[in-house]
Amino acid sequence: MEFIYSMPTKVYFGKDVILKNKEVFSSIGRKALIVTGRNSAKRNGSYNDVVKALSDSRIDYILFDEVEENPSLETIEKGSIIGKDNNVDFVIGIGGGSPMDASKAIAVFIKNPEVKKDNIFSQKQLKSIPVIAIATTSGTGSEVTQYSIVTSNKEKTKKNLGQSVFPVAAFLDSKYTFDLPYEITVNTAIDAFTHLVEGYLNTNSNYMSEIYGEKGFELFKYCFKKLINKELDSNFRNKVMLASTLAGIQIAQTGTSLPHGMGYPLTYFKGLPHGLANGVLTIEYLKSFKDKSKINRMLNLLGMNLEELEDIFNKLINVNIEITEEEIINYSKSFVSNKSKLKNHTEKVELEDIIQIYKKSLLK
Ligand code: NAP
Ligand code: FE
Repeated sequence: MEFIYSMPTKVYFGKDVILKNKEVFSSIGRKALIVTGRNSAKRNGSYNDVVKALSDSRIDYILFDEVEENPSLETIEKGSIIGKDNNVDFVIGIGGGSPMDASKAIAVFIKNPEVKKDNIFSQKQLKSIPVIAIATTSGTGSEVTQYSIVTSNKEKTKKNLGQSVFPVAAFLDSKYTFDLPYEITVNTAIDAFTHLVEGYLNTNSNYMSEIYGEKGFELFKYCFKKLINKELDSNFRNKVMLASTLAGIQIAQTGTSLPHGMGYPLTYFKGLPHGLANGVLTIEYLKSFKDKSKINRMLNLLGMNLEELEDIFNKLINVNIEITEEEIINYSKSFVSNKSKLKNHTEKVELEDIIQIYKKSLLK
């Protein structure tokens, strides 16, 4: 038994945690750049709570509310210029994974003025100004991970920024998710579930990371039932938010693997939301394992067999995209040329295995 375990983010979970802990903001900085998407943060109460906490603590702030889904480096550079021009000393990311990931990247760009969208991927490890993350989907787990997934239009793909930016604090209050539409609730919950799966069945998985994965599967046993029955009550919202954060803590240790890496082109070229892009590949990925012993441990915690899990995915996910065999071959070649996700998979896979997972998932 040998492992390194680090989770430096301080997590505040529960009802009204922002206003109950507003001193956290003044302990981190004097002027904040608030980073959000275009609408949801202002509608779900999270932005108002942050502004109240900052005003009560006499902290100045400026808002950048232009983050799109799957944030581009162009948007990140724009936000960072606003932050630099206004001399902010910390960043508050509010939203789903897109604004939270953008806030991490912006915090790196602000700290390192020589870094631009065209040279970020050739940098060694960089420091950032502090980030506070407030999750409003359940979710990506980005509030407790070091990853920032960005869209590079130059490379025509989504990829990790390559820097390690753990938020210093994460606020998790499920009330912000109460009005999340059913479809986004499903897509983001599937993302959280795929984090649990890919983190658990991962080369880097260890005793500590598995604790989070296994608790997450127990929570999903309940969450799947509620999702299928469309019973999105506060109990469900709390549990799925917790499961998503546990999944984030797990992938911060392990990384993700095949479905995440293979899903990126489905988002970039076909516009599939992130959770669906992974989710549509998950069942065939699970079936592709030669050794199913750990999958059986996972299924045991979920209280179901693989056919029952497949049935749940079929009920929750409905993906209808036009895709050709040629596109599948191109995505597969590009995927196997990047060893970072392949090395996280516990079994040896060849190009043909990847092609088959895509084909069986998408050409039904
Ligand atoms: P998202 O792209 O952040 O948001 C999707 C949609 O949901 C947006 O239209 C957003 O509206 C809306 N929304 C967010 N919160 C809402 C709420 N409480 N009520 C109503 N609508 C709400 O979605 P996401 O799935 O959370 O994040 C996906 C991104 O995270 C991808 O880029 C993915 O690659 C990345 N990701 C990162 C990690 C990590 O560890 N860093 C892990 C997995 C995925 P607004 O635009 O108006 O806010
Ligand atoms: Fe994800």
